This record gives sequence, C-alpha cells and structure tokens, in this order.
Amino acid sequence: MKKILLVLIFALSATLGFAQAKYVFFFIGDGMGFGAVSLTEDYLAAKEGKHGSKNLTFSDFPVTGFATTYSANNLVTCSSAAGTALACGSKTSNGVVGMDSAAQKNYKSIAYRFKENGYKIGITTSVSLDHATPAAFYAHQPDRNMYYEIAQELPKNSFDFFAGAGFLKPKVAGKENLFDNFKANNYVLSRSIDECKKSTSSKNILIQAEGKNPESLPYAINKQKGDYRLSQITDLAIERLMNDKGFFLMVEGGMIDWASHDNNATAMVGEVIEFSNAVKVALDFYKKYPTETLIIVTADHETGGLGVGKSEKSAPATQVENFAKNYGSYSTTGHTGTMVPVYAIGAGSEQLGGKMDNTDIPKKIAKAAKINF
Ligand SMILES: [Zn+2]
Repeated sequence: MKKILLVLIFALSATLGFAQAKYVFFFIGDGMGFGAVSLTEDYLAAKEGKHGSKNLTFSDFPVTGFATTYSANNLVTCSSAAGTALACGSKTSNGVVGMDSAAQKNYKSIAYRFKENGYKIGITTSVSLDHATPAAFYAHQPDRNMYYEIAQELPKNSFDFFAGAGFLKPKVAGKENLFDNFKANNYVLSRSIDECKKSTSSKNILIQAEGKNPESLPYAINKQKGDYRLSQITDLAIERLMNDKGFFLMVEGGMIDWASHDNNATAMVGEVIEFSNAVKVALDFYKKYPTETLIIVTADHETGGLGVGKSEKSAPATQVENFAKNYGSYSTTGHTGTMVPVYAIGAGSEQLGGKMDNTDIPKKIAKAAKINF
C-alpha cells in the first residue's frame, strides 16, 4: 500500500513535470549490501509474526538499480576509495581520500560543485566526521588515517552544516587545535541537538557531548536516553539547510559496516533500521516538495559477505529472538567486491535505474540538478 501511494505521488509529479533537483539527499549505507537489506527486511516481517519480507523505507522507492564498487587498484574497495567515487565521480586507490591514485591531484567533490551553484551543503554521519566517507566530500589526503589533516580541511569549502559523532584527533602536539581552527573560520561547534538548534551562525558543526566516544554514535540496539539518532541529525540538517536556492545533504549510516566487520548481524540489522528511519525523514520532506526533491540511497560497498539463512540449522523464520544471529551467515570479516543496491525517488531519479558504476552516481545527481560536474 505504502509503495502504491509513493508510486502514485511519483507518477503525478512526473506528469506535472519535474523541476531541476533543488533539494538533494544522498544517503550512503556504509557496507550495506543486498544481504544486509534482505536480512533486515526478513527480520521486520518476522517481528510481525510473518514469514517473508517487509520493506524498508527506501525499498518502496520507484527506481532501483545496482552499482559496481571496485576501486582503481582492487576489486574490493575500502571506504575512502568508494567514498571518493561516490563524492567525486572518479576512481582512486584504496586508502586515498578525494585525490587521484598517485595522490598528486585533488578531485572536486559534487558537494563542492553544489556549493559553487548556490546550494547549502550538509555532510553528516553516525561515525566521526574525519572518517573516510564524509571526508571524501570535503578533504584531499593521500591516507585516510590522516585524521587531523582531514579535519583541518573541513572549514575550507565553507560548507554549511556538519554532524557526526566527533573527531578522532582534535589535538596534535605543536599544531593548531582543530576546534580553534573551526572557530577562526566562524563555525559554531555544538555538543547537543538543542544547542545546535539555537545557534545563530550560518555555519555549524554538531558532535556528541564531551566524554562520549568520538568514533561513533552508540549502536541503535544500545542507545540510551539522550543519545541522538541519525534520523534526528537528518531532521536538524533540513532545518539548518532549508533555503530558497536549495541544498545538498549527504547522510552516512557508518556503523552498518562496523557491525558487519564484527560479524554481528543483530547490531547490523539495528543499524539498517536506524538508517531507514533517517531516510523516512527525507521521504516526508519529499512528499511536501515532490517535483523539486531527489533522494538517492546506496552503499559504498558490501561488508562481511553476508548471506541469509543457515539451512536446516536455522530457527523458524518467525522466531524473532536471535533472528539475525540465526540467519546471518557471514563469509568474511572484511569487505567484498559484490555490487550494491541503488534506490531513488524524485526529480531526475529515472536515470538511476539499472546497472551502473559507483562513479556514475554523482554524475547522474549533477545532471538531475543541471549543474556541471
Ligand atoms: Zn569497512
């Protein structure tokens, strides 16, 4: 029913004619391959006592495709090479952020292009803001582990809103404190959503309260009162970015990958649901501005080689307790080179159907917004 309604809104908007994409949401589920989506949808059905599959928010989108993810030097990519492909539309070698394989030439990300065209820019994640995926949208470094150098680049492009768990290396002996650099560039650093809402600055960074783990938000299955969620970040980002000229917002669900590295299917399922809830916030926005909004949901790569089911050893599919544990059959603790899903709705989304390479995705987004890239 939900899907039929969405398809109807989409068809009606298409009949009225799409404007160029003015409000662009780019969701990246780190490590969210087909196995992660399938297992989570099977879990959602089991939770309702049903055998089968219940759609996540983005599975109702009318346009679906799949993308190859190989990097410039390996069939199995890392998040920095994949992030660079999705952000900059060009391949690079594993480990490099926002530069060519030789780490000689800087690439310009799609976020930078949107900024040049008058859009407001938001870069958000559930992990640290200096991590590979968000970094690929604003930084250029030969090594993804250069966290201090990556974060020092954050104010350079005057992007409008950043939100994540924290920063891994705010201080390096003998060098400028990261937070002083942000302040000198007129960024207000907030430690809670309420604090950020009250900021009168046009440039804002939200990270968790002092004492919390700067590496990541707590896993969705372990959240405590006061911990913020990816959906709340998405909601706040819209509030901070909304303006007449439009915005580009990247939202990363960064811990789907981490849970899968640990072969922890239960935590992984929680993270995919968390990610889907963040997409729901964008979808509610789309329903208000269907001819001007584009939402893309994809992954940077698959993690864990996750399959669904362990044959006759598996518990009945409707038994929700330990469902993920009983059905998730990981084959590696690393990444894999399989294709990943692409889901899209809204202005220009029709280009995102079928098979594509990950470097095609930002090019298609630019085309939808009619900007040069
Ligand atoms: Zn990973």
